[in-house]
Amino acid sequence: MSEPTVYPEDLPDYATVVRAREAGGPEVFEVADVTAPEPGPGQLLVRTASAGVNFIETYQRSGVYPVEYPFTPGAEGAGEILAAGEDVETFHIGQRVTTCEAATGTYASHFLVDAEKAVAVPDEISDEQAAALPLQGITAHYLISSTYRVSPGETVLTHAGAGGVGQILTQLLKARGARVITTTSTPEKAKIAEDAGADHVIPYEDFPAKVRQITNSEGVSAVYDGVGKDTFEGSLESLAVRGVLVLFGGASGQVPPYDLQDLNRRGGLYVTRPAIHWYLQNAEERTWRYTELFHHLSEGTLSLSIGETYPLAEAGQAHEDLESRRTTGKLLLKP
Ligand code: NDP
Repeated sequence: MSEPTVYPEDLPDYATVVRAREAGGPEVFEVADVTAPEPGPGQLLVRTASAGVNFIETYQRSGVYPVEYPFTPGAEGAGEILAAGEDVETFHIGQRVTTCEAATGTYASHFLVDAEKAVAVPDEISDEQAAALPLQGITAHYLISSTYRVSPGETVLTHAGAGGVGQILTQLLKARGARVITTTSTPEKAKIAEDAGADHVIPYEDFPAKVRQITNSEGVSAVYDGVGKDTFEGSLESLAVRGVLVLFGGASGQVPPYDLQDLNRRGGLYVTRPAIHWYLQNAEERTWRYTELFHHLSEGTLSLSIGETYPLAEAGQAHEDLESRRTTGKLLLKP
């Protein structure tokens, strides 16, 4: 497909988008019809079948991460290719693709994505799974394969084991032969984390002491912490000598500035603050991660739990639910 194969008259006239008018709570969202985006060179226009809701969009909506308003959130979505710009050779019209690196917001009926950042969806994978997998799946993959590579038999702590990333992390860790300790806030969530395969599900109260009990006082070699402000201190306390704290999010708030000398006092610890972008640096990396995730799905070592699906007009409700800790698994939007 080196020439555009769908011409402007075939494209939709308008797209429906969710946009935040300004920084604020979920009430700043509105739904609007706007001129449909047209794919530039190397880009695909995708009709959204399902879009993923992720915590980062709450940081963008609320102003914790700076964006320009009005702002249409969403980097993750799956759907059918409606049109392609010049120089797209790897895809065809009608093909199903997914991405977590869209060029325009996926909280929308249509979005654009650079072809090199889109991935063909295997036939056996539904649109919902395809939209639910990339951001949380790639995150779990890079955390345990690249940020800190977990070996079989190792014991690690992951927080929020019933959450979207949490359930996938646990399953991938178990597939690797690791022992997983995880935290959850309610008995219902504890059951979900157990079902995902966690070996030890513990409440947040006094979790460092419980981790020491489980590990014969040694502590864990790594903590995967997406909760942030409320757990940071306890995560450091849970680590073995020379352990690694992987701080990958701030669901409870961002961690305040920190005295690096403390890492020495606690046993020569390491702290890193990764983000998905730094682990999808080229086609090779992208292909490796997606291929392994699709393989886990097809062999049954990974299943995706869709917590809730909302219409576009209820994007604000999805954010409210996510921020108020009411959700488990993945949240999707359906135009
Ligand atoms: P989750 O489904 O995990 O939802 C967040 C969970 O965090 C809640 O369900 C809750 O579980 C727990 N939590 C603990 N304290 C709070 C609090 N004060 N407010 C809200 N939630 C709290 O979300 P995601 O899977 O989408 O994301 C998890 C984390 O991973 C987020 O911090 C996100 O920013 C981060 N992330 C980072 C990426 C990266 O590349 N760095 C990429 C993707 C996600 P419980 O009630 O059991 O405590």
